[in-house]
Amino acid sequence: PAVKHQLEEAWGAKCGDTAGMTEIGTIMIFECSHQPGGTHIIEDHFIEEVLNPVNDEPAGYEELGERVVTSFGRGFIPLIRYRTKDMVMKVPASTCSCGRTWDLYSGGIRGRWDDMKLIRGTNVYPRAVEAIIREYAAIDEFQIYIWRKEEVQDEITIKLEIQPGHEAEWVVLQQKLAKDLANAHEGLRFNIERVEYGVLPHFELKAKRLVDVRPVVQY
Ligand SMILES: [Zn+2]
Repeated sequence: PAVKHQLEEAWGAKCGDTAGMTEIGTIMIFECSHQPGGTHIIEDHFIEEVLNPVNDEPAGYEELGERVVTSFGRGFIPLIRYRTKDMVMKVPASTCSCGRTWDLYSGGIRGRWDDMKLIRGTNVYPRAVEAIIREYAAIDEFQIYIWRKEEVQDEITIKLEIQPGHEAEWVVLQQKLAKDLANAHEGLRFNIERVEYGVLPHFELKAKRLVDVRPVVQY
């Protein structure tokens, strides 16, 4: 929502969410002009099921689950009950006032089931962290850096670049951001670290702003 707001401000236009997949060769959801906070499912081209990712049982309306797609619109690449690992929550078509009869994914694609990171017993979703960081206009680019301290303790550090001209906001921002992130994660401590402007990689599409350097256990 924060990025969307930034785009609407910059362009003076309505910004709609959509998502597609290489595997289906097109998009499968879109947000209509009523901006209901979710995306309609293009149900005449796809069967979109939502399953509980743990026990594979169907998830009901307003339950988080994994998106499973069957595609009809592209005859040359049919997909049958393809598990996407996308995290979604289906809500009824009546949730939107536009009159379309297609159900929606509230919040669009909310994240990936395999994106979840466990830090000292707390679940951390990179997208949720990004949403909080994007509330700060003074932050230009950032990276979520997960590492292990003295081989025992997992640490999560937000490396960030401050927009040129906003350097004076850093001290207050550092404290407030740490507090906002902790409040959203059961009190988990986030380290907030400033890096020189231009040090972090800048991305355009499907940003990869997560780096996990913890050693992988091998047996
Ligand atoms: Zn609508």
